[in-house]
Amino acid sequence: MRTETPQTILRSDYQPLAWTVTDVDLHFALDPANTLVTSRLTLKRNPAAPAGPLVLLGDELELMSLKIDGCEPAAPRITDTRIEIDISGDLAGDTVSAEIVTRIAPEKNTSLSGLYTSRGGFFTQCEAEGFRRITWFPDRPDVMARFTVTLEADKAKYPVLLSNGNLIGQGDLADGNTGRHFARWEDPFVKPSYLFALVAADLAVNERKIKTMSGREVLLQIWTEADAIDRTGHAMESLIRAIRWDEERFGLELDLERFMVVAVSDFNMGAMENKGLNIFNSKLLLATPETATDVDYENIEAVVAHEYFHNWTGNRVTCRDWFQLTLKEGLTVFRDQEFTADMLAGMVANEGGDSARAVKRIDDVRVLRAAQFPEDAGPMAHPIRPDSYQEINNFYTATVYEKGAEVIRMLHTLLGQEGFRNGMDLYFSYFDGQAVTCDDFVEVMSEANNGFDLDQFMRWYEQAGTPRVKASGVWNAADGSYTLTLAQSTPATPGQHVKQPLVIPVAVGLIGADGRDVALRLEGEAQPGATTRVLKLTEDAQVFRFVGLAGEPVPSLLRGFSAPVILELDEDDARLAFRMAHDADPCNRWDAAQRYAERVALALAADPAAMVPEAFVAAFRTLLNDGALDPAFRAQALALPGEAYLLERMLPADPAALRGALVRMMRALGATLAADWLDVVERLQLAGAYRYHPGDAGRRALVNLALRYLAAAGVGEGLALAEARFAAATNMTERFGALAALVQSASPARTAALQAFHDRHRDDALVLDKWFALQAGAWSWDAAAESALARVRVLLSDPSFSLSNPNKVYALLGTFFRANPGEFHAADGSGHAFWAEQVIALDARNPQVAARMARALENWRRFTPTLQASIRPQLERVLAAEGLSADVAEIVGKAVAE
Ligand SMILES: [Zn+2]
Repeated sequence: MRTETPQTILRSDYQPLAWTVTDVDLHFALDPANTLVTSRLTLKRNPAAPAGPLVLLGDELELMSLKIDGCEPAAPRITDTRIEIDISGDLAGDTVSAEIVTRIAPEKNTSLSGLYTSRGGFFTQCEAEGFRRITWFPDRPDVMARFTVTLEADKAKYPVLLSNGNLIGQGDLADGNTGRHFARWEDPFVKPSYLFALVAADLAVNERKIKTMSGREVLLQIWTEADAIDRTGHAMESLIRAIRWDEERFGLELDLERFMVVAVSDFNMGAMENKGLNIFNSKLLLATPETATDVDYENIEAVVAHEYFHNWTGNRVTCRDWFQLTLKEGLTVFRDQEFTADMLAGMVANEGGDSARAVKRIDDVRVLRAAQFPEDAGPMAHPIRPDSYQEINNFYTATVYEKGAEVIRMLHTLLGQEGFRNGMDLYFSYFDGQAVTCDDFVEVMSEANNGFDLDQFMRWYEQAGTPRVKASGVWNAADGSYTLTLAQSTPATPGQHVKQPLVIPVAVGLIGADGRDVALRLEGEAQPGATTRVLKLTEDAQVFRFVGLAGEPVPSLLRGFSAPVILELDEDDARLAFRMAHDADPCNRWDAAQRYAERVALALAADPAAMVPEAFVAAFRTLLNDGALDPAFRAQALALPGEAYLLERMLPADPAALRGALVRMMRALGATLAADWLDVVERLQLAGAYRYHPGDAGRRALVNLALRYLAAAGVGEGLALAEARFAAATNMTERFGALAALVQSASPARTAALQAFHDRHRDDALVLDKWFALQAGAWSWDAAAESALARVRVLLSDPSFSLSNPNKVYALLGTFFRANPGEFHAADGSGHAFWAEQVIALDARNPQVAARMARALENWRRFTPTLQASIRPQLERVLAAEGLSADVAEIVGKAVAE
């Protein structure tokens, strides 16, 4: 834990280091309470930097000894976090060696950053600044060195010893070290310290040999505790598919003799791309039909691929400094999104590949709107490449990742698939083995595309805030023309009051009165062309005139969500219903349903006496019963927009009023369409063994949604179906879907079902996370229901809950704070006081996890005055807590700043 005042680090302050490292030889004598780390460094004067001292960074380390070229340095300047040594006199050459011995206690490391223990094994997490918690080092991504690592440990307790690269030696230790063994690893590639990893534990392995595209044989290994090894099959298949895809789509090949993936139960994030030794939160690696849902299967495939793809986009070419994080993350998220779309589409090529691709795109847009748009509208708003931070761990954000991926996607749209690939090829040919910047990436994209002008495009890296595109159209019946005006603006964000116009690709279609797309012809063009085309909006406002039209068209704008903006377009209910029924672009068809639902939800929230409009229910019925539409798509389009997104569309935000509106909508849609939903459940039931397949997953998703509506409305037949399905389910998707329907209802069966689920899975930590999350996220469906806060308090002392395990914290507290606003923001302020209590308790153990929970209240100024008055003292209480970490101090400090 840090107690110093948080310091702001500026991107503009970047300086290359005077001394950099070429070779690292690490020796670990592993012991949970007392691990000795001996680091031998070869340091080189950096010709690109002004002369200066050798700088080593550390955090909570016990320095045992330090030698430069074999001698104790004269007058080193040592603080808790920094050592500076002047290299002079006899040592003034261009190369020096350093030997540093450090002592650490991994079992006391509850922050899970650096070297720590989990369920009896040793694991590391070094991104972003964990390596300095292991040994003194110039711990920055622009220091790229060759690593050799020797691990020594008790052989019985830690039979498996892993580190990056290739195994070059192993065996038992000689006299005086009875029962201990060693392994020596060498990574042939230079890498920054954040990609270092080690694992020492009692693990089993699932391994496979494959040939890469150039015919080299490589060994793939997935390591877990022995009792979970039968859950690694899907991850192994996913890894092989990812390797093949990167070869085919980008010509990128696995470059090591072996590639290892390790599961760990205690992990702050999702997974980590350490060179050749990925470490995964077990939640994102282990799956069987009995324990994992369709969504889990899809997430595992995506994350296994994401971390694998980093081997090139992140590891071979890395970031110069942490402000450039989106260089690797935005690009790699884009790559994993494309991979997933290709995999899903490929599995159903003959029966709606395009729809599967669109459903994946809708998923990504949903995440962006629910997580990134609110971030862009609050005190943490930052460009995808931030200009400053206090704690870099706070900037692993939806903006850097998801909006970053949208920026890469726009580049892909502007340059085309081939132009983008040419840019990627040139990027690797220039920068392999280097640490570079976002500017380097964009410049190389331009160079590979005949100097394509991307100067204005760079503003996407510089400006925070979600741009608005306001569209208006004028139909001229006299000459058959439709004039579309697009205007852009970006709201002010903290520290950025004036915004410049961006390059915004707006994909446009026009729908005729018969519901079919018309071929588009812009004024001045001889012939009509495609039915969807991308307009480039670069000015504050631009006019586009379509000609040769037979009748007034209905515009369909921002098709495929072609830019991460908020589209403002006046459409009445009838037009939204028309687009819900006819828009040829699945993303926009989904969006029409979302916009209609949003309009109804906000109207109901404003007027507790208002009824759900019949026309809205009818539009839902039409979509539900359109058998030509893929069930997965219908499940997306018929699900109401998320509460977090709707609260961002409401000012002042009133979570209780919104919750009331959503309950009324769920009940009206469930009751009025009961026969249609029941029909869906009957017709889409699947028989036979579970398989992970987008077609089956779509059917299960729509059936589960039908049960949700039926149960919410208290339809007896629907509740009986949910109970029966819960009892008879043969896989987790169906069992959990039925359970969720029961829990999100006033059914008296919900308590017994929760108990039965718990009893069945009582020994399975990952499945119990679902059980915790479901209860933390449950709404109150009747006056007799216990409040979510009361339930969460009880569950905090459940024997299987632990504040030390991030997955448990995210499942119980994260779900309550972030996914249950209607209950979290209870009028009596009890939720807010509970939030402060938990953030303070967590911060003493694990600042990164605490900071994530702290973010739940950052947009508090958007709430009603009553809620603001309840939240403010709790923010101040956290800020005043003794020994508050820099992580939480930054989040809460920015939230209370005027
Ligand atoms: Zn990543």
